[in-house]
Amino acid sequence: MSSHMTLKDLKPGDSARIENVGGEGVLRRHLLDMGMIPGTEINVVRLAPMGDPMEVRIHGYELTLRLSEAEKIEIAPVPEPETHGSQETGNRRRRVHHPGLGEEGRFHPKGTGNPLPEDTVLTFALIGNQNSGKTTLFNQLTGSNQHVGNFPGVTVDRKDGVIRGYENTLITDLPGIYSLSPYSSEEMVSRNFVLNEHPHAIINIVDATNIERNLCLTMQVLETGIPTVVALNMMDEMTGNGGTVDINAMEAMLGVPVVPISAIKGEGVDELVKHAIHIARYQEGPLRQDFCSSTDHGGAVHRCLHAVSHLIEDHAEAASLPVRFSAEKLIEGDDDILDRLNLDQNEKEMLEHIVIQMEKERGLDRAAAIADMRFTYIYKVCENCVIKPGKSKEYLRSQKIDRILTGRFTAIPMFICIMGLVFYLTFILVGPFLQDLLQTAVDALASLAEQAMEASHVNEVVKRLVLEGIFEGVGSVVSFMPIIVTMFFFLSLLEDSGYIARAAFFMDKLLRKIGLSGRSIVPMLIGFGCTVPAVMSTRTLPSERDRRMTILLTPFMSCTAKLPIYAFFVNTFFPKSGWWIITALYLLGIVTGILTALLFKKTLFKGEAVPFVMELPNYRLPSPRNVLQLLWEKAKDFLQRAFSVILIATIVVWFLKSFDFSLNLAVNSHDSILAAAAGILVPLFRPLGLGDWRVVTSLICGFMAKESVVSILEVLFAAEGGPAAVISSLSAACLLVFSLLYTPCVAAIASIRREMGRSWAFRVILFQCGIAWAAALIIRLAGMAFGFG
Ligand code: GDP
Ligand code: MG
Repeated sequence: MSSHMTLKDLKPGDSARIENVGGEGVLRRHLLDMGMIPGTEINVVRLAPMGDPMEVRIHGYELTLRLSEAEKIEIAPVPEPETHGSQETGNRRRRVHHPGLGEEGRFHPKGTGNPLPEDTVLTFALIGNQNSGKTTLFNQLTGSNQHVGNFPGVTVDRKDGVIRGYENTLITDLPGIYSLSPYSSEEMVSRNFVLNEHPHAIINIVDATNIERNLCLTMQVLETGIPTVVALNMMDEMTGNGGTVDINAMEAMLGVPVVPISAIKGEGVDELVKHAIHIARYQEGPLRQDFCSSTDHGGAVHRCLHAVSHLIEDHAEAASLPVRFSAEKLIEGDDDILDRLNLDQNEKEMLEHIVIQMEKERGLDRAAAIADMRFTYIYKVCENCVIKPGKSKEYLRSQKIDRILTGRFTAIPMFICIMGLVFYLTFILVGPFLQDLLQTAVDALASLAEQAMEASHVNEVVKRLVLEGIFEGVGSVVSFMPIIVTMFFFLSLLEDSGYIARAAFFMDKLLRKIGLSGRSIVPMLIGFGCTVPAVMSTRTLPSERDRRMTILLTPFMSCTAKLPIYAFFVNTFFPKSGWWIITALYLLGIVTGILTALLFKKTLFKGEAVPFVMELPNYRLPSPRNVLQLLWEKAKDFLQRAFSVILIATIVVWFLKSFDFSLNLAVNSHDSILAAAAGILVPLFRPLGLGDWRVVTSLICGFMAKESVVSILEVLFAAEGGPAAVISSLSAACLLVFSLLYTPCVAAIASIRREMGRSWAFRVILFQCGIAWAAALIIRLAGMAFGFG
């Protein structure tokens, strides 16, 4: 092999050693953070079915990489006796007895001086890589006490909870990150939380089966100087496959308590909590922040780091940033930290001189030199403390599954089958069955209420409000809860098992054709459940351009809230061809999304989608606890909406339609306040054949919550016995299309606003209403041309 070979030239199954990582900027740093540093062995596992991207294995985990990035990574043949990896040396070493879970931490003598006052609320940040088990641990720690909240501002979507059994605590589950560098906006959220909100302690969760890459984040956490406890998770898998960790040796090398746990089984969690509370209360910082060595390659990096630390000491203190951490980030070229430190011109120049000198002496550029320094220490830790398991059962199993699910000819058909199955189970098998049950219950309750009111001679107006407004309106919406929860159940299974990551892998090339990257598939699939979490999940996308584009497209993926509308109209107008119509609507949403993407790609968002670097975790069985928790949250969410927004909208509409301007009970609802108000917008909808004020009202209320379209129609058409009296089948079809495509509910718009700002949110509303209107008009004209309507 020549010295200019790149990763792209490797065939599946081949291995090589990384010589040089090309490219520039944050992406390159991200690659380095993921462990792609010169000297590391890398193995090509497979190419995606369409030939791009590739799946590589490094440090014992899988990663996706586009060929265009692979081309920038220079490789060399693997030297015969492997020197770097701890694997070989580890196996030769004497096996130490595994200390077991909960060995009561023999870490340094516990301090007893100067505890924080008894009544301080101890705050903890839960930090770790994606898929390291944060959510699982969070649920274990907080138990039923947890409350989930959205926070205003940019740092949304973090979860806070109280540790079970310790009242004065607050633990925050931060987004999964690989580094404290500003690569994706999630990393920014986590980093800002640590740097700005000064939690009392950090619980750093480390996936023991993936220890090298996970420790890369740990090093950076230790450098912040904040009291930290390392939770070494997945110990069940680790020991199950013959691996082990010498916990005491690791504690000594990292200078913080290390607690082996299995979050999924709840083992070691109590001990973890004890340690966490202790270090927080006594503010026991890491004993070690200095991981560079004066003997490593002549100590160039060591001297540079210490020089910069001294140079910026006063500025770091003034900006209340940790010195060692800031020095490293400065050397890596982190502009955000540079701004915050407020160095003067001379200092900036000195900094640059020091760094250039280091690059010259070390023979590596700044980002690679720092990454190399970290990994050199990590290798040392692993060599001393970790006996790696052989290829794990989980990995071998994943490989087998992947041969089918991401196989060359099977990936796309399997994807279609799996999604088809999900929809089939949700909409045909499980959902409707549960829905019928619930509907029966609601009906029974309604007739009970009617009898009760009749018996006690309740006022006629109140009676009609309760029956028409609440039971007919809200009841019809509530009965959809089972379908919605079922949908989330399957989506979360797909996500937790690791399949959606695979979908992103093999769809990348297709999605790139419409200007997106593979990762965009995640928000889009979640969008079938609800637009709000879908929009939030775009934060994992590292580029602003991809993120915006994905956010603009997800609302076209028909969310579950629109389902009641479809069902209502299909039952009334097209009872025979129901499922065909609903399927067609879903497809129409997807097609519109694709067309929009193409349009954006040519206009607003020119340029290439960003690199696609993503971890492919082993397939795992989702934890029942996590799934149940999610279902419970969704159900609760839905009921809250039904009994707040939807109920209020329904009642308000009921009042407005029942009274005229002189506040008398309107004999004919055409004279009501509502008819007059909605009348203003009626002309807009007349071309669509929807020029009826009741329909218009329901569509307006749909902004509040999509489900309310149905409850409002039920209320408004109660007298006529249904909308069939005033709208034709063709108009009904137009209405379905309009409902599919027009702006999602207020909650979705609010989350779009949070992610993209007010003016974008406004544009989204206009844009989507425009598209919906145009599409509905096309349907109407086409229908009329074919003689319907
Ligand atoms: P997060 O992305 O960091 O929030 O990770 P999750 O909590 O979602 O966990 C990722 C996956 O790892 C899930 O499939 C969990 O069931 C699984 N998992 C979490 N903790 C453990 C553990 O201790 N042992 C094993 N075997 N699996 C775990
Ligand atoms: Mg999670």
